Amino acid sequence: MEEFEQSASSEIEPTTSLASTKRISVISPGSVLRATAYPVLFLTTLSVAMAALRYRWDPTRVSPLLLIGIVTYLVILERLIPYERDWRPRADEWRWYGVYFLLTMAGGALAQGLVTAAVGVLSPAEPALALWQEIPCALLSGSLAGYLVHRLAHTHTWLWRLHGVHHVPQKVNVANNGVNHILDIVIEQGCVQLTLALAGFSRESVFVVGLFVVAQGFFIHANIDVRMGWLNHALAGPEQHRLHHSTALSQAGHYGSDLAVWDHLFGSFTWRPGSRPVAVGLRDPASFPGTGEILAAQLHPWRRAKG
Ligand SMILES: [Zn+2]
Ligand SMILES: [Zn+2]
Repeated sequence: MEEFEQSASSEIEPTTSLASTKRISVISPGSVLRATAYPVLFLTTLSVAMAALRYRWDPTRVSPLLLIGIVTYLVILERLIPYERDWRPRADEWRWYGVYFLLTMAGGALAQGLVTAAVGVLSPAEPALALWQEIPCALLSGSLAGYLVHRLAHTHTWLWRLHGVHHVPQKVNVANNGVNHILDIVIEQGCVQLTLALAGFSRESVFVVGLFVVAQGFFIHANIDVRMGWLNHALAGPEQHRLHHSTALSQAGHYGSDLAVWDHLFGSFTWRPGSRPVAVGLRDPASFPGTGEILAAQLHPWRRAKG
């Protein structure tokens, strides 16, 4: 697959006197992709969510199909408009990522099962608010819960032994979204889903928010050269999340994986236009098993700390 040039657009310097008064701007395919990458993802997710509600599609089929579509779309973009060529997964890494992806899916299903078993009866049959009111409230509530749990996972010693598995790879790409300790996923998604269930949000609003959050999770890890500009202040994006994976503490904030509002509110917003991470990965790589040591990584939280 052909990779597009880095330049957003190329400008041809005119040679004729008539043309000298105008500058001919040539828009490259790469610049079109960079500008449309996120709008296409967002509008597709929104359209699928609305259609699923309108036509009462089965959520258990819609969610995995959309997930496959999103990952495929982002993997293609990673080939066409890469942010960092060295961050492409190697062949052996794809195999590890596949196993991690299954573990992450299992963790998500386990979290959902536990929350359903715990609070299923508390969920109201009918939404308390109109859907257009409920969805923003559910998004903000779930996002806040996710932010707090993620931030805690970076400061609490034992939770970090779970969450640090996600920060082991020295690259950030769409497949890295699935590199997690299974218990980290159970705790994080369990807390988010428990918050939504206890708040009494309807199944429909939780479904719509869930699709958006899944799309955002893969998008923020995508190794694609997008510039979201002012939208970075409202939504999480790859420009911010690769700073979260930075080895430099001064850059590594951005605990929000869907919205950027909590990072602004709680002082962990570090992105500025043009910000690039100095390097990504762990500050102390020897403190965790490597990405390929999947079983060792899953057992790591119960091993005695070195030294
Ligand atoms: Zn993190
Ligand atoms: Zn990440």
